[in-house]
Amino acid sequence: MPALEDFRPQEAAWRALTADELPHALLITGQPGCGKRTLAMLLAQRLLCEAETGEKPCGVCRACLQCREGNHPDLTVIRPGEPIAPGEDKGKKSIPVNDIRELSRIVSRHAYEGARRAVIIEQAEAMGPAAQNALLKTLEEPPAGVTFCLTCVSAGLLLPTIVSRCREIPLHAWPESALRKALDETGADPRRAEAAVRACGGSMGRALSLCGDEAWWERRNQLLEDFFALPNRSAIPRISTRLREERSEASEQLDTLDGLIRTLLMASLGRNPGSDLSEYPEAWQRAAASGHYATFVRLADAVAQTRKMLDSNVSIQALWEKLLLKFMEERSQW
Ligand SMILES: [Zn+2]
Repeated sequence: MPALEDFRPQEAAWRALTADELPHALLITGQPGCGKRTLAMLLAQRLLCEAETGEKPCGVCRACLQCREGNHPDLTVIRPGEPIAPGEDKGKKSIPVNDIRELSRIVSRHAYEGARRAVIIEQAEAMGPAAQNALLKTLEEPPAGVTFCLTCVSAGLLLPTIVSRCREIPLHAWPESALRKALDETGADPRRAEAAVRACGGSMGRALSLCGDEAWWERRNQLLEDFFALPNRSAIPRISTRLREERSEASEQLDTLDGLIRTLLMASLGRNPGSDLSEYPEAWQRAAASGHYATFVRLADAVAQTRKMLDSNVSIQALWEKLLLKFMEERSQW
């Protein structure tokens, strides 16, 4: 289970986790995989934890265990697809207004165990206007002792009236050191962990899932071969055709490629000494060792440009060909 301490690199989260008191409504925002749900659960557990001394949540008291198992009587979790209101269909992508009405009933009662109650609403953007307006009424006149914790990719997806009643806790991209530490704790293979750290775009959840994803690892190794061991121009159409067929993976492929370039960039700048470049063809290893960092900056820019063009009218195969040519061009300069 992630510990409180893991959130130290996230300033706003850390402040909330170490505060004596919390406002009655919090809104945790950030990209998928950044830890919103984990943080919401830690905050709820902190409120309900029964430990008398030491750090909260303690993780071992009855309340902490109940929270984790999802059966603490004073913790209500609402998320799309798992309605709490009787008679609502399961598996829907939205949060029905009846869930929010049910929630209002629950929070208006006294807490069972103590004076506090916690409410987590995951993917709050899944509430339609009716549900959001129903929630607004509760947030406007909050019952004593209840803390609401909403999670959402971006505050802009909610009614401004909801947002203005919450304190926002933005979660940002995780620093590489924090990602490495988390992967290390799962016992991941160090080389895979390093590749996942580079390719996850700062998303903790993505880093964790990439590490165990065989198909991703295969795609990554294929990209390594396609872009860094490109024999000559005549190989380009074959590679770009394959990449075109993997259209749905394009954004991920660009992340992966970006990670592969950044590993060389960091090495060329003398950062991460001792990082293992042995899987790159020798010419690239030499380029990194002799400080050709400008090459890697230009290639990273080319990847970013390609990403911008993904939704344009330019054919995806043409985009990949241009990128492959750029790799050849840079390679030919040393
Ligand atoms: Zn506890």
